[in-house]
Amino acid sequence: MRGSITRDPARPDDPRLIDGFGRVATDLRISLTDRCNLRCTYCMPAEGLEWMDRAEQLTDDELVRLIGIAVRELGVHELRFTGGEPLLRKGLEGIIAASAALAPRPDISLTTNGIGLARRAEALAAAGVNRLNVSMDTLRPDRFATITRRDRLADVLAGLAAARAAGLHPVKINTVLLRGVNDDEAGALLRFAVDNGYELRFIEQMPLDAQHGWQRTEMITAGEILDRLREGFDLAPDPTERGGAPAERWIVDGGPAVVGVIASVTRPFCGACDRTRLTADGQVRNCLFARTETDLRALVRGGASDTEIADTWRDAMWAKLPGHGINDPGFLQPDRPMSAIGG
Ligand code: SAM
Ligand code: SF4
Repeated sequence: MRGSITRDPARPDDPRLIDGFGRVATDLRISLTDRCNLRCTYCMPAEGLEWMDRAEQLTDDELVRLIGIAVRELGVHELRFTGGEPLLRKGLEGIIAASAALAPRPDISLTTNGIGLARRAEALAAAGVNRLNVSMDTLRPDRFATITRRDRLADVLAGLAAARAAGLHPVKINTVLLRGVNDDEAGALLRFAVDNGYELRFIEQMPLDAQHGWQRTEMITAGEILDRLREGFDLAPDPTERGGAPAERWIVDGGPAVVGVIASVTRPFCGACDRTRLTADGQVRNCLFARTETDLRALVRGGASDTEIADTWRDAMWAKLPGHGINDPGFLQPDRPMSAIGG
């Protein structure tokens, strides 16, 4: 039974989220809100954005139902909650606990800017978060205030420490380097991460900012990052199987510390992508850079069955393109910024 959904006849009868290029999506990125309490210059303008109307946002029950369909029917076994800033979502711990109660139990992670994490880390771990990524681009308070337009570095550092104390492991730090702003801090950030037991990952800046200000020449490339790190550290390629992981990993000074570099622009990894994405208003995106979305909220609110919703999700993923096309001459940035898609 497939209800009223039109299915591409070329799509094989497979319950999983497969696409036309042989990839299988098992990792679901869920944006819980498009709102944020920071204003990172490479993400959104100082005045913020026109936030999504509350009524447009999936309710906790609607969201948990979709997560359940993904896990039970579509073979998703990893969930990452993000945003916007996921800690701003009321009911976050409840959504996580409901996700952790699913069978088979998915692996659950969270990407956060760390503001307010110090007092939430234990409850998040108790609710079922397994792993956490905290974004931090600098160790200098003045630079933090310049990059995020808020003077909150101390909160982020306290959040990192609380996550580690709550037993979340590994605690990863996400860093975006900006030319002339914090690109001289690669080594200092790695030293801080190694000394404190965090795992650092650098992310190449991508054309996903709300202002459409990204410039290729301004981006600090993976090659540059590695050159800078090698000035102070010995880096050896991590022989562990990478799979669909976006980060290329390097063993630091013989280990056990590792550092990751996510080179979405200069070394795209689309061929191994295992992601599917759900926005806070219930749209499935088959790629961060997709220019189309599939409306699951309309199905949920229109009384569709789990079977119909699952099949629509499969159709959405079947249509995934082979790559993000950032390096193609005709590349067009998606309409939604990263903060509204879920990074
Ligand atoms: N607010 C949370 C945070 O900052 O961790 C979660 C959402 S944020 C969009 C997720 C990650 O995307 C952060 O690590 C952030 O640094 C990164 N990010 C945002 N805009 C980006 C861009 N244009 N290029 C590369 N990474 C970006
Ligand atoms: Fe907010 Fe994260 Fe965007 Fe910074 S990167 S403005 S913390 S959503």
